[in-house]
Amino acid sequence: RLFGYVMLLQIQRKNSMLQSHEKDNMALEKQLLRDQMTGLYNHTAFYEFLDRCVKMKGEEPLTLAVIDIDDFKKVNDTYGHDNGDRVILALCKVLQSRCGEHNYVCRYGGEEFAVIFPNSTEKDARQVMIGCLEEFRSIRYDWHSGFISFSCGVFQCSPYRMNAEEFFQITDKLLYKAKHSGKNQVYGGI
Ligand code: GH3
Ligand code: MG
Ligand code: MG
Repeated sequence: RLFGYVMLLQIQRKNSMLQSHEKDNMALEKQLLRDQMTGLYNHTAFYEFLDRCVKMKGEEPLTLAVIDIDDFKKVNDTYGHDNGDRVILALCKVLQSRCGEHNYVCRYGGEEFAVIFPNSTEKDARQVMIGCLEEFRSIRYDWHSGFISFSCGVFQCSPYRMNAEEFFQITDKLLYKAKHSGKNQVYGGI
C-alpha cells in the first residue's frame, strides 16, 4: 500500500511539473509571437505563418492584405505619440473584430499591419478590408477634427510556385500603388 501511495505521489508531482512546463511554454510562445502593445501577432509570427501558409497551400485560396496608416507621422507630430498609439489600438480592434476569428492578424511594423487569409479569395478579402477601412475611417477622436484612414494592398497567392517573400513583395507593391493613387483605399491585384 505504501508503495502504491509513493507511486501516486510521484505521478502527481510529474503531472504538476508537466502542467507548469506547458504554462511556461505558452507564456514563452506569447512572448515570442505576440506584440506587447496590441496583443496581435508580431513581426516574427507574421513571417513564420506566411511561410507556413505558402508552403502548405492546398486547394484553398490564400490571400494576404497589408495595411499602412495614412499620414501617421503627421498624427504623431500634431497630436502626440500617445494619441498615435490610440489610433494604432483602434485599428487593431477593427482588424481583430472583422478578421480575427479565422485569419492571422499581425502587426509586423510600427503602424504596419497584415492579415493572412488562409481560406479567402482576393475578392472576398478585399470586401472585408473595405469594411475595415470604412469602420476605421468612421472613428472619431476627441482630439482630432477629421478622420484617419489607411491604405491597403490585397493579393491572392498564385497557384504557381511563389514563395512567401515574393507573395509579400507583390502585395506590398499593391499597397504602394494605393498610397500613390491618393491613399485611403484598398488596392487589389485583379
Ligand atoms: P504614409 O501615408 O505614406 O504611410 O505616411 P506616414 O506619415 O504614415 O509615413 P510612415 O508610414 O513612414 O510613418 C510611420 C510613422 O509611424 C513613423 C513612426 O514615428 C510612427 N510609428 C511607428 N510605430 C509607432 C508606434 O508604436 N506608436 C506611434 N505613436 N507611432 C509609431
Ligand atoms: Mg509605414
Ligand atoms: Mg503610414
